Amino acid sequence: MLDIAGIRAETPGCREGVHLNAAGSALPPRVVLETMRDHLDLEAHIGGYEAADAAEARLTGTYDSLARLIGARPDEIAYAESATRAWDMAFYGIPFRPGDRVLTSAGEYSSNTIAFLHAARRQGVKVEVVPDDEYGQISLDALKAALDDDVRLVAINHVPTHDGLINPVAEVGRLARAAGALYLLDACQSVGQLAVDVGEIGCDLLSATGRKFLRGPRGTGFLYVRRSALGLLDPPFLDLRAADWTGPDSYELRGDARRFESWERSVAGQLGLGAAAEYAMAIGLEVIEKRVLELGALLRTALAELPDVTVRDRGLHRSGIVTFTHRDREPAEIVASLAERRIHVRVSQQTYRYDEGARPEPRVRASVHYYTTEDEIRRLITAL
Ligand SMILES: *Cc1c(COP(=O)(O)O)cnc(C)c1O
Repeated sequence: MLDIAGIRAETPGCREGVHLNAAGSALPPRVVLETMRDHLDLEAHIGGYEAADAAEARLTGTYDSLARLIGARPDEIAYAESATRAWDMAFYGIPFRPGDRVLTSAGEYSSNTIAFLHAARRQGVKVEVVPDDEYGQISLDALKAALDDDVRLVAINHVPTHDGLINPVAEVGRLARAAGALYLLDACQSVGQLAVDVGEIGCDLLSATGRKFLRGPRGTGFLYVRRSALGLLDPPFLDLRAADWTGPDSYELRGDARRFESWERSVAGQLGLGAAAEYAMAIGLEVIEKRVLELGALLRTALAELPDVTVRDRGLHRSGIVTFTHRDREPAEIVASLAERRIHVRVSQQTYRYDEGARPEPRVRASVHYYTTEDEIRRLITAL
């Protein structure tokens, strides 16, 4: 059982209002805040290098924590300053040849689709969007039909940012593996919300952020690189962390996933990320998943009973991300009006989507976390 009152007491932000934006940047637990603050204090008092030396063991420990969180090995984890940078290091590290095909889904994240278009222009990569199935998830039948020897990469997300659905990522993994394609999973919205296991999913590469459901600091993220995939990628840029300079004409890459890192970083941020991973694991990801999905379902049911509100989420399985529209109120108006009542939700808006074209209809996005209470959901419904 979850001790919700205890968890909320350890979350300073819970006293400030109703925060329903775990999909944007969740409220961190006090231990994350204190880990970072203590390290910044130490840096100010003894100097940044000296503080990093003093934190060395805990800093190395962050790789163990992140690895355990997703069922990987510590040498398969690279720290990054964001999930986007982590994803970029993997994607831009794939040595594409002209004509290589990349398969993605209609709900892919905009930064990733822009990178696909970039690779199409620069390297002649062919990007193909696998259609959705009847539930709005990536169609496994269509994916199977599209997979052949020319497919270099399958790149999708686990949980999109603008829709409550959860993609069938393990089934995608089996199909990608059978076809010999690399599989890059954007797990930004699932790590910290769902029990994520890279072994079960079968992805070669996975990117995640610190600040969303993991409740870590902003400006942190990480990349998982399966050991067997390490040699298939060439990091798009290298520094003295990623490689050793060994002679006038030579360098040697690090032997682990940290070849995708750069040397400089926020040490406080990395320690805070490690603390967030440990905090989530102490609660238990299975327990977290169950509670978040239940609260998401509760919110959708309550919204569906409001006469002028339409829930927009698709998917056979749904996450803690809940999106909706109102018959005659703009999302921005709803968000502003709720904020006056200290209920914090967001507008989910994109400039283009594969499935809806230019200027897709904006929605309100309310994303719950395990620290959300049934009472907070009632407050949102009453305010609406
Ligand atoms: C937020 C998000 C990202 C980007 O994460 P950053 O840490 O901001 O780089 C990527 N993909 C999805 C699906 C997201 O929701």
